[in-house]
Amino acid sequence: MGHATANSLIRACNSQISTLTVHADDYLSVTSEISPPIAVTSTYRIPEKLGVNNFGPETHIYTRESAPVRSRVEAVLGAIHDNGHAVTYASGLAATFAFLLYFKPKRIALGVGYHGTRAAIDLYQKRVAPVTLIKIDDPYHEDDLIFLENPVNPTGEVVHLYHYGRRAHAAGATLLVDATAAPPPLQQPFRAGAHFILHSSAKYLSGHSDVMGGVIVSRCCEAAGTLRSQRTLLGSFQGSLESWLLLRSLRTLDIRVRQQSRVAAQLASWLQCAAEGRGYEGIPVNAIAKVQHASLQILPKGYDVCASFPHGFGAVFTVQFTTEAIAKQVPNLFRLTANATSFGGVHSTVEWRYPIDQSTCPRSIRVSVGLEAFDDLKCDWVYALTYALHGEAAAKAKL
Ligand SMILES: *Cc1c(COP(=O)(O)O)cnc(C)c1O
Repeated sequence: MGHATANSLIRACNSQISTLTVHADDYLSVTSEISPPIAVTSTYRIPEKLGVNNFGPETHIYTRESAPVRSRVEAVLGAIHDNGHAVTYASGLAATFAFLLYFKPKRIALGVGYHGTRAAIDLYQKRVAPVTLIKIDDPYHEDDLIFLENPVNPTGEVVHLYHYGRRAHAAGATLLVDATAAPPPLQQPFRAGAHFILHSSAKYLSGHSDVMGGVIVSRCCEAAGTLRSQRTLLGSFQGSLESWLLLRSLRTLDIRVRQQSRVAAQLASWLQCAAEGRGYEGIPVNAIAKVQHASLQILPKGYDVCASFPHGFGAVFTVQFTTEAIAKQVPNLFRLTANATSFGGVHSTVEWRYPIDQSTCPRSIRVSVGLEAFDDLKCDWVYALTYALHGEAAAKAKL
């Protein structure tokens, strides 16, 4: 069977995410290698019969414009987002900034979330063009940009995307969803009416804390084409090594993310048993005030979990302690879980976010659950919290 036939077959079969991540780029394979080759070249021999307009995903001239492994990773990223059209970037914020330049918003309704997005919009306002920021629940106008993060970083709580999708469509506004904290198979924002989906692929899409990257997925092919040709001028493409690592990691996205989602919900619920300072199964009393995660959230009225998150919520949540001192100290007291920024990798991490984002609670830390076993993570939490409240000897005694 030819590659092109195989590609139409997976589309026709309405394949699931796990199949798409492995096969959606088969049609771009031009050698017999199972693992795609990586081209370390900046330039290509120009084919004799090159016309002006045939720079397709299979014709490469110069790496700032396109590269084989980039086309393949974009094929997979598009396919797993309900057959959207993906454009990759050097980082999540490079994607955000490229989108602002593309869309030229006059007004942005910005939801809560990642502080870097606010800073990028601020830079755009100061250096490029004026933008009026409105609240997410204010009335929308035609041509507004609705910029929503779902789930919200750092709390892991969700917004009612279908509600905002309906409002955006009714007003003729454009909805962009930053879905970094819950990639497919967890959510499919196009079904809620999103026009664009954005990810920092440094998080779950790559999943091994070894790639920087961003992606915008457009429902409309033409918009993706414009974003792609603007990216050629901005120069903010993702390099071939990063694209290769991302493609390799996407092959296991479905299985990784489902497992991380499942263990995160278990861990959040277990920690919640010790909330309000109660203590629980070795977690000391007076340690945890509350836990925030979509699985513990009182969901918005009319929220349909099966439509929004059919396979579980994201694997990031927030733990609020009884004191700021615990939040500051505890990230360095785990044995497995690392004190590190970013999230979505196979290694569990925690971070006290307050020093870099003062809109977060100073008594809280963000938790990103990796692929360690639930029981081992529980032991790690008992150890770190006992250490923080009662010292190293008491923590060791609990091992
Ligand atoms: C990390 C992150 C970004 C920025 O991505 P970078 O790849 O770090 O530039 C944007 N949005 C969210 C929700 C993020 O978590």
